Amino acid sequence: MRKPRVSRRMVVAEIIRLMNLALNPGTPVKFADRYVYLARRFSMKYKVPIPRKYRIFICKGCKRVLKPGATAVFRVRTRPKKHLYVKCLRCGHVYRRIYE
Ligand SMILES: [Zn+2]
Repeated sequence: MRKPRVSRRMVVAEIIRLMNLALNPGTPVKFADRYVYLARRFSMKYKVPIPRKYRIFICKGCKRVLKPGATAVFRVRTRPKKHLYVKCLRCGHVYRRIYE
């Protein structure tokens, strides 16, 4: 087994860079999926979690990018509790994140 010679901080920086590229509105979905795939691979390989801020943009069903307006619907709903409603338009996966 090859020992990774990279620091945790570098991996986090790389994940953030990839996620920012993926979420850039000018990035085609096809490439964005690839960036998300790479970010997830980095995350798993080095056991570094993807920051929360970016995790909401990855579909929990199909693991592809959730781009507001392109591949996903993001809505803020207030009933029964204030939450963010996210629906993936490709696999139909829905999830909600409750605001604290
Ligand atoms: Zn999906």
